[in-house]
Amino acid sequence: MATGLIQIDQDRNIQERLAAERARLRKLAGLDSHTHFHKPIERAFTAEERSRVTILFGGFTWKHEDLIRAVFQGCGYRCEKLPVPDVAAFQIGKEFGNNGQCNPTYFTVGNLVQYLQFLEKEGMPRQDILDNYVFFTAGSCGPCRFGMYEAEYRFALKNAGFDGFRVLLFKDSDGIKAASGEPGLKFTIDFGFGMLNALLMGDVMNDQIYQIRPFEVNAGETDRIFRETVDALCEDLKNRKSFEIEQVAPDWAKPKFKSNKILRNTANVFGKWHENMWGKDFLNALHAARERMNSIEVDRMRVKPVVKITGEFWAQTTEGDGNFHMFEFLEREGAQVLVEPIATWVAYLMYQAKAHARAKWPVTRPHRAPKWWELKKQFANQMALRKKLMMIGVGEKFWYFFYHRLIRELGGITHQLVPQPELAGLAHPFYNQYARGGEGHLEVGKNVYYTVHKLCHMVLALKPFGCMPSSQSDGVQSAVINKFKDMIFLPIETSGEGEVNAHSRVQMALGEAKVKARLEFEEALKSTGKSLDEIKSYIAEHPELRRPFYQVPHRPGIAGTAAQFVLHVSDRMDKSHRFWRRSHVQGSAVATPA
Ligand code: SF4
Repeated sequence: MATGLIQIDQDRNIQERLAAERARLRKLAGLDSHTHFHKPIERAFTAEERSRVTILFGGFTWKHEDLIRAVFQGCGYRCEKLPVPDVAAFQIGKEFGNNGQCNPTYFTVGNLVQYLQFLEKEGMPRQDILDNYVFFTAGSCGPCRFGMYEAEYRFALKNAGFDGFRVLLFKDSDGIKAASGEPGLKFTIDFGFGMLNALLMGDVMNDQIYQIRPFEVNAGETDRIFRETVDALCEDLKNRKSFEIEQVAPDWAKPKFKSNKILRNTANVFGKWHENMWGKDFLNALHAARERMNSIEVDRMRVKPVVKITGEFWAQTTEGDGNFHMFEFLEREGAQVLVEPIATWVAYLMYQAKAHARAKWPVTRPHRAPKWWELKKQFANQMALRKKLMMIGVGEKFWYFFYHRLIRELGGITHQLVPQPELAGLAHPFYNQYARGGEGHLEVGKNVYYTVHKLCHMVLALKPFGCMPSSQSDGVQSAVINKFKDMIFLPIETSGEGEVNAHSRVQMALGEAKVKARLEFEEALKSTGKSLDEIKSYIAEHPELRRPFYQVPHRPGIAGTAAQFVLHVSDRMDKSHRFWRRSHVQGSAVATPA
């Protein structure tokens, strides 16, 4: 009996202590007060600080990053790119960040902390780091963990002793509107067009590198030439003189522009737009880059499986430990990598914005339920939706136009942007287009698109450890594979560890893709009725066929570069043979009377 009472007392005691501790923690976390959570107010990055404060950024390929840095510098900012995140950065991210984050969060957050620690080790006092550096990144309100990035950066920085380090956001939703609330970072027209060009050039050249390097005759030539080319384009972005109407207008018009602000600003908008898109200096820089890149010698007769990369945005973009150096590994194993441009992601955002505007219209329209005779209200409803769709549609058109125009100016071999409606349509039976987060339906859509159009031999999806949207599409992909039996699809979960395991799985799938590519090539060669030696000796006699920007027309149903090429060379041989016969016959006809 006495033992039972003691037991009850102890239980009550525990309950009381638990309740007291719970109350203390709730008070500490502010859960009992009736106020909402407020984002901590951060020191602003002011215009006066521009000449002193260095903007840090990262997360793209080196081509994108170098070009973006050049634009920042050309607009008068101090700017540095962060190194490519490595496993050590990942571990720092885990040490100072929250538990249960996705892999890119650990890598990118850890990378920033690692860089600041490096500055400190180099002898820079901590206060100077806080005062003289800011970090510029993208942000979002979700729905996946991307929405937590900003908070994660701040949390890890605080834990690592860099409390108060400033994180500037370029929200993905605001990205379309090109707006930022930070006065130190001013979105001028030059800055906007410069960034647009840098991003698109980075995409176009990134695609080209992966198309050219597997076929380069002289090892290392592609990397060297692209390094020089990107440097030259950076110089142009950094040093090109900004268009100012007051400087270029004829003398008689200068006073007019000086006195009339509206006239001056309007002229400057159009002038800067023209300068950044069709300006002589810009086009000359692009054409010089094209000539330089076209000097690389290639041998397209190497049979290689084409591996399309899909997956999560960061994992399919980074070129380091974050995806186990997958692109480098694939090329070493004899594959040709088909990378995804960042432009696809922007096109996806715009397409989704339109789809969501349509879907939400019944609840967001200005007049909820107008009666059938209230024509004015019905008209207002229709017009408001159309206006929204039209504005996004114009943005989409410009986006595709700029990207494809740059492809033409830079050699014309980069892959065009895949039409978003088709991707959504192909994915929809498996993955609802309105399920947001991460790449949404894109992973499934791309897998089906590249398979049904026979544009690759294998699809490799890079999915970060702990990625919610990728886990969803992974589940769906088994249904996709069941439907498309000849699909070679491999999802790889990327994390800070497990590189050997991932590489070995890729190697196995790649073996199958290699067989597919070899068979395709042999069939293509057989269909020409010519021997390999005949084709090769024709190529040897025609040096233009060994240039990377030589345009090989695409044949539907053939994925491999070598197979496409052999069919094209054979056509050319037949054509020149026919031409020779015709001129020979004509020559004989002319010769006979003589
Ligand atoms: S898409 Fe996945 S990996 Fe990327 S931020 Fe969201 S949850 Fe993380």
